Amino acid sequence: MQTYDAVIIGAGHNGLTCAAYLGMAGLKVKVLERRSVVGGAAVTEEFHRGFRNSVAAYTVSLLNPKVIADLRLFHHGLKIVERRAQNFLPTPDGQYLLAAEGHTERNIAKFSRADAERYHAFNRQLDASADLLRELVLQAPPNLTRASTLQALGELLKAGRFGNRLRRLSTENLRTLYDLFTKSAADHLDGWFEGELLKALFGFDAVVGNYASPYTPGTAYVLLHHAFGEVNGKKRVWGHAIGGMGAITQAMAACAASHGVEIETGAAVREVLVEKGRAVGVVLGDGRVVRANVVAANVNPKLLYTAMVPPDLLDADFLRRMKGWRCGSGTFRINVALSQLPSFTALPGREGADHHTSGIILAPSLGYMDRAYCDARMLGWSREPIIEMLIPSTLDDTLAPRGAHVASLFCQHVAPQLPEGRSWSDHREEVADLMIDTVERYAPGFKSSVVGRQVLSPLDLEQVFGLTGGDIFHGALTLDQLFWARPALGYADYRGPLKGLYHCGSGAHPGGGVTGAPGHNAAHAIIADQRRRLNRRR
Ligand SMILES: Cc1cc2nc3c(=O)[nH]c(=O)nc-3n(C[C@H](O)[C@H](O)[C@H](O)COP(=O)(O)OP(=O)(O)OC[C@H]3O[C@@H](n4cnc5c(N)ncnc54)[C@H](O)[C@@H]3O)c2cc1C
Repeated sequence: MQTYDAVIIGAGHNGLTCAAYLGMAGLKVKVLERRSVVGGAAVTEEFHRGFRNSVAAYTVSLLNPKVIADLRLFHHGLKIVERRAQNFLPTPDGQYLLAAEGHTERNIAKFSRADAERYHAFNRQLDASADLLRELVLQAPPNLTRASTLQALGELLKAGRFGNRLRRLSTENLRTLYDLFTKSAADHLDGWFEGELLKALFGFDAVVGNYASPYTPGTAYVLLHHAFGEVNGKKRVWGHAIGGMGAITQAMAACAASHGVEIETGAAVREVLVEKGRAVGVVLGDGRVVRANVVAANVNPKLLYTAMVPPDLLDADFLRRMKGWRCGSGTFRINVALSQLPSFTALPGREGADHHTSGIILAPSLGYMDRAYCDARMLGWSREPIIEMLIPSTLDDTLAPRGAHVASLFCQHVAPQLPEGRSWSDHREEVADLMIDTVERYAPGFKSSVVGRQVLSPLDLEQVFGLTGGDIFHGALTLDQLFWARPALGYADYRGPLKGLYHCGSGAHPGGGVTGAPGHNAAHAIIADQRRRLNRRR
């Protein structure tokens, strides 16, 4: 039996990133993926005959530029283009806000001159916090734990450097950072703006993938989390990967393979193999054993520790915390094949104008988003849901037949688990109809243009993509599950509680989104440990 230096559970984009870095460092690596395709939630698939789309994650910004450069993703075929407008927020009664480079302030002024004047200052402060986050995403957080004096000193130094970095912020920026980590998005935005559509523009980023009202304390952080990205050097811009999100993970897989990484699909891991307290490989669903010096898990930590590691090998307090790891995004995802572009009452036309290339947000106020959340808590889904529609075929002619289009409908809020023991299997189509009817209210004729659809409830996100609770981030992005507490205090440095077991997925710092950061950081921890091990042997 062949022994590897590292085996990776899952070929999501983070598993692939981790594998590529390990391969580049000369390690012999095997990646095991349960699906028949690599990419996890970042994939392109044909969902209706002749129509392909990024069927889960659908837009790119957070992917780290260092990861892009180190893995030579552009060389491996990745091309990212910018949207011609960033966002379009129509109202059912015919008004709209369009956020597009050079035009946003003028459009905001249609509703409030005061907001237009404050917009620049708001962005400046958000940028200062986003810049800080950008610096932190590729570093392991200080690991708060009892450890040997030498290790503890190292962590204290790291915490000191972090504190020192905070000290370099102006008082105003430090206060904003504190607001963004603690306040609700609504409280934060209400303190700046009066226009409902403008607040909804930012509020959407706070509730996306986050099963919460924008009035819930802590939601401002999720807004910040969506602000640390960039496209082709332009900060906080969102764009499109030609060929869909699968183009990112195909390029990652190509990079990994070029460094000797073996990737096996259709290979579900059943169990982490542990000997003498150390992870030494994995057991597959078909009973095969793959042995390795280290195991890196790209899966949600709750899945890892409650289903793949024998419970008697874990400390009781740690296991209790992993059982309590909060997962559940409140997300419902539809891919639609369209015979034509939608025409919005607020800005009619089917010509493929700039707003058709943007993230089209159907949720005109923070109050609307709050009601969507309250509904979902009570009924299982919102009677008036929050929807972002993206039509990538307006920027990419590889996805749909000529003249036709594909759109992603990213819908919130639905309950990850339906109340009263009801199953998503019985309500999937009914809720999909509601989502499409909702778009119809803004763009009459949309419903009849739908020629095919793929519907993914939270249950489907779990069953198809292995996302526990349908959680798109592998665990809620709340202060108790972030930074040095992701996935638990004492294990924030990508090293798990068992020797040789590492976390390389979004359940580790800095969390979810197509970033490549957890994969990058975990690889660096593994490489450092492997070098130490080799040095000890010499
Ligand atoms: C509907 C949806 C929309 C989103 N939209 C965006 C977006 O537009 N932009 C953005 O940046 N982010 C978006 N996200 C979030 C982002 O896609 C995820 O946070 C990110 O892709 C997670 O990457 P990962 O590599 O950490 O994990 P995953 O992509 O979840 O990969 C984990 C891998 O492990 C595999 N696996 C699971 N169990 C096993 C097993 N037993 N054995 C072997 N393999 C296993 C899975 O099949 C999967 O391939 C979205 C996510 C979803 C679901």
